[in-house]
Amino acid sequence: GIRFKDEVQRIKQVLEAAEIRLIYEGTSLKQASLLTENILSMCLKEAVTNIVKHSGASVCYITVEQSWKEITLIVRDNGTFKSPTSYGAPGYGLSGMRERLEFINGGMEIVTSGGTSLIITVPNDTK
Ligand code: ATP
Ligand code: MG
Repeated sequence: GIRFKDEVQRIKQVLEAAEIRLIYEGTSLKQASLLTENILSMCLKEAVTNIVKHSGASVCYITVEQSWKEITLIVRDNGTFKSPTSYGAPGYGLSGMRERLEFINGGMEIVTSGGTSLIITVPNDTK
């Protein structure tokens, strides 16, 4: 499995190679279980892959907020959401994220105005 902070380092390089500016807001992740960190890492990776592949964005905003109750990860871009029905078959990235998040009683909301925002929430299960 991959710790969240390692995935953050990885996506920094991916965004840099794609010439997309990263604005990282909020805290670094503290005291989450390995399973939760692995799933959040997978979500971050897929969200950034989608930004590089589909969005046409110049900026990616990542926000991490952590309370005693929950962890919120927001990945937002300033590109354009491309409706998956406009070409070919839909992929499995977003549905895979949803499935994994539900497995740990989390969830994901997608907002597609002014770019794409993924608002991911999971319980803050300290180990
Ligand atoms: P896969 O993830 O299986 O490789 P995919 O990326 O096409 O394929 P999803 O990750 O599920 O599939 O995304 C579904 C669709 O939503 C994409 O094909 C694309 O049209 C749209 N989409 C997702 N994220 C973005 C984004 N950041 N900007 C623009 N469009 C997006
Ligand atoms: Mg995808």
